[in-house]
Amino acid sequence: MIDSHCHLDLACFDDELDQVIQRGLDAGVQQFIIPGIEPDHWSKSQRIAVRFPQCYYTLGYHPFFYPRHLNPEIIKSMITMLAAAIDKASVQRGFVGVGEIGIDRTLATDLSLQIELFDAQLRLAKAHRYPVIIHHRKSHDQIIGRLKATQFDQGGIIHAYSGNAEIAQQYIDLGFCLGVGGTITYPRGQKTLSALQQVGIEHCVLETDSPDMPMYGRQGQRNEPAYLSDVLSVLDHAFPELTGNQIACITSHNVQRIWRIERAS
Ligand SMILES: [Zn+2]
Repeated sequence: MIDSHCHLDLACFDDELDQVIQRGLDAGVQQFIIPGIEPDHWSKSQRIAVRFPQCYYTLGYHPFFYPRHLNPEIIKSMITMLAAAIDKASVQRGFVGVGEIGIDRTLATDLSLQIELFDAQLRLAKAHRYPVIIHHRKSHDQIIGRLKATQFDQGGIIHAYSGNAEIAQQYIDLGFCLGVGGTITYPRGQKTLSALQQVGIEHCVLETDSPDMPMYGRQGQRNEPAYLSDVLSVLDHAFPELTGNQIACITSHNVQRIWRIERAS
């Protein structure tokens, strides 16, 4: 298995990162992708990828972490900074793409500014030929619209996909895989699970979103990559024609293909 989305750069993992990664490896997670959230964390992801050869990372601005007073001038300097960081990272080990970028309609940040920053990061990723990780919340229509408007053609992952099969198919047609995480371990995740059954496991990747999105039965606990097997066992039941091992292989190959990373030994 590969955990395609775990925020191992967050402070809550500082004290025991070795153990968290070891527990993941023991539970069958061979590789870990750390999505970028903001400049102060980028260099930390880089250091983790140097220390742990199983770790890879992306660079980008997550909507939760935007500066308080976003404006077009600030966006410009943010993009200049990201471009410089990508240039530097592209010759170093572990850097695989751009993200976690997105549009989140539950945030107070002005929607048109969110779209401007999202577009700018998509354009940057396209120019450098890197795939992206996309965060969405009540924003599938905007995101699909912007992917089309920017003619984004590098693909990537729709993090924590939730929605129907029709929307899922639109993302697939645009070259994306769907991130499948803790949500499907809850009874309320049935709708998303049936959408995944309709589009097929060949379009999915596994993720924990650690330390967030705890698995069913582990509410209130810090999530970590070792619990990825909870997601796999739900998929195992949902796709009876496949073994758990086959699902792990298919989803891992998707991650390795998207981020162009070598197979784990
Ligand atoms: Zn995330």
